[in-house]
Amino acid sequence: MPRPITAVIHQSALKHNLAIARAAMPDSQVFAVVKANAYGHGIERVYQAFKSADGFALLDIEEAKRIRALGWTGEILLLEGIFSPQDLYDCAQYQLSFTVHNELQIQWLQQFPVAAQFKVFLKMNNGMNRLGFTPEHYVHAWQQLKGLASVKDLVHMMHFSDADGERQGQSGIEYQHQVFQQILQQYPGPCSVSNSAAILRYSSQLRSDYARSGIMLYGSSPDFPRHTIQDWNLQPSMSLRSEIISIQQLNPNDSIGYGSSFVADRPMRVGIVACGYADGYQRISPTGTPVLVNSIRTRTLGRVSMDMLAVDLDPILDAQIGSEVVLWGQSSTGAVLPIDEVAATSGTVGYELMCAVTARVNFSIQE
Ligand SMILES: *Cc1c(COP(=O)(O)O)cnc(C)c1O
Repeated sequence: MPRPITAVIHQSALKHNLAIARAAMPDSQVFAVVKANAYGHGIERVYQAFKSADGFALLDIEEAKRIRALGWTGEILLLEGIFSPQDLYDCAQYQLSFTVHNELQIQWLQQFPVAAQFKVFLKMNNGMNRLGFTPEHYVHAWQQLKGLASVKDLVHMMHFSDADGERQGQSGIEYQHQVFQQILQQYPGPCSVSNSAAILRYSSQLRSDYARSGIMLYGSSPDFPRHTIQDWNLQPSMSLRSEIISIQQLNPNDSIGYGSSFVADRPMRVGIVACGYADGYQRISPTGTPVLVNSIRTRTLGRVSMDMLAVDLDPILDAQIGSEVVLWGQSSTGAVLPIDEVAATSGTVGYELMCAVTARVNFSIQE
C-alpha cells in the first residue's frame, strides 16, 4: 500500500466555482487561470471541469502546449507574455494570445519575419509596478501595436494590487482604475481588468470584457479573513488527506517531536499523521494549526517534521490507526476545513499551500 497521503481534486467543486465566477461576470469572457500547473492541482486534472471556460490563462508555453494536447482549441493567454523572440513562433503555431508589457517585446513583434495574426493584451502599469507601460508611455505602445499587421486584436489590460482590501484607507481599486478608464475612453476597445478579488468584490463597478479568475476557482477566498469561502459560496477543490499511523499516550510533562516544542500539561492522546514538510505542509505551522480527524476539528501539536506531524486526539474519542486526517479541504463525509484557515495560522495564503504540494504526494480525482 502506498503511503496514505493523497491530494484529492474535486471536479464538482471546480465546476461550481467556475459557475460562481460566471454568475458574477455575466457579460464577460471568463478565463480560467491555470498557471503554476493549475495552482498545484495539475492542468490535466482540472481541464475537464474548466473546459466550459472562455479561455485559459497561464505563464509557460510548455503548459499551453499541454492544454492544446488535451484538445483545447479556444483561447490561451500568456500572462507574462513572451520571454524571447523565438517564442513568437510557438505563439503563431499554437495560436497563443499574449500580454505585451515592455518595449523589447514590441521590437520582437516588429521584427518577426513570419506573417501572423496575434491577439495582444497590452498591459498598463498603473500602480502595481511589476509589469507594463506607465500611463505616459502606454498610448505610444498602443499606437505602435495598432500599426502592426501581425497584431489582429488588441486588448487593454491592467492588474490590481489591492482588489482584496484597502489602500491607504481608500478603496483598493480606485487609485488604479481611474487612470485606466481615462485611457480607455480615449482609445476604446476591449479590456481585461478583473482577478478573483475584483470579480467577487467589484463586479458591479468594473467592466472587464475578459475576467481572469484564478484562486476563487480553487476554493480559496482572495480576501480572507474579511470573507471566507462560505461567504463567497466557494467550495474547496483540493483536499490534502492522510491517516493516523501511530497513537501515543502522553503523561504531563511529556513532549512531542523535534525541539520538544510542545509539552503536555495533562494526560493526552496524540495521533501521528503521515504528512510533513516534504509533502508540502508548511514546517512553520505552529501548534494549534487546525486539522480534521474523522471529520472533527482539532489541532496540530509541536513541530512539523519532514514526514510526520502530531495532532491532538482529545476531541476525537474514536480515533485509531487508519483514521482519516484532513490537512485542508473536504473530509470524505463532507466536513470542510478551508485552506485559508490553515494558511492564515501558518502566516501565508491559500495560494502558497496549494502550489506547494510536492511530487511524492499521490493525486486522485473525485467527481
Ligand atoms: C495570477 C493572475 C491572475 C489570477 O489572480 P487570482 O488572484 O488568483 O484570481 C490574474 N491576472 C494575472 C495577470 C495574474 O498573474
